[in-house]
Amino acid sequence: MSETQKIPVLVIEDEPEIRKFLSAALASNGFSPAFALTGREGLAHLQSRVPEILILDLGLPDMDGLDIIKSLRGWSNIPVIVLSARGQEKDKIAALELGADDYLTKPFSTGELLARLKAALRRAQQSVSQASAVFEANGLSFDAQNRIVKVDGGEVRLTPTEFRLLALLVKHAGKIVTHKQLLQDVWGKSSAENNHYLRIYTQHLRQKLGDDPLHPRFIITEPGVGYKLKV
Ligand code: CA
Repeated sequence: MSETQKIPVLVIEDEPEIRKFLSAALASNGFSPAFALTGREGLAHLQSRVPEILILDLGLPDMDGLDIIKSLRGWSNIPVIVLSARGQEKDKIAALELGADDYLTKPFSTGELLARLKAALRRAQQSVSQASAVFEANGLSFDAQNRIVKVDGGEVRLTPTEFRLLALLVKHAGKIVTHKQLLQDVWGKSSAENNHYLRIYTQHLRQKLGDDPLHPRFIITEPGVGYKLKV
C-alpha cells in the first residue's frame, strides 16, 4: 500500500509506551499515524490538517481530553475514539455525550483497536452517503419517513416508543448512545431511576427484531454505558 492510500489518523497521547504500540499497530494496518503529545499540540494539528480519524487520550498533561472533543465538535464530525484508564467510567460517558464515537480501555489489543477504528470509519461513511435514505445493515431496514421497519424483508410492527428508541440508535448507528442520551431523547427525562424503562423497552425491541442479546445481530449492550446499533 502506498503512503497516499493510507488513512491519516492523529493520535493525541502523552504516554510513550502507548504511542509506540499505536505507531506500530497503525502503520502496519493501512493507517498513516501522526502524533501529538499535548492537547495544545493536538488542537494545532487538527486545525491545520484534519485527519480521517482521531485517537484521543483523556488524561493529557496540559488539558482535559474532553475539552478537545468539545472544541473539535464545533467544526468537525470526524470519528473520535477515546483512550481511557480503567475506572474512568464517568469520563468515558462524558466523552460519548460530547460526541466521541467509541472508547478503548487501556490496555487494549491491536485487534480491538482495529475493530473500533473500522467500525467508526464505516459509520462516518454511512452517515455521509445516506443522510436521508433508508438505513440498511445486517438485514435490518429502517425507513424513518414512512415509519417502516423490516428484518430480512418482513415488516416488524413497533410501538411509538420502540420506534423512537430504534430511530435514535439508527441515527447514531455504529456509535454508542449513552443511557442518559436515550432517556432524554426518547422519554424526555434522564434520571438514573428511569434506567429500567430503557431496559424493558430495549428488551421488547430486541424481541420484535428477533435479536439475541448474547449474540447480537443488531443491538449491542455496552455494560454500564449504553447501547449501539451495529453497522
Ligand atoms: Ca495520559
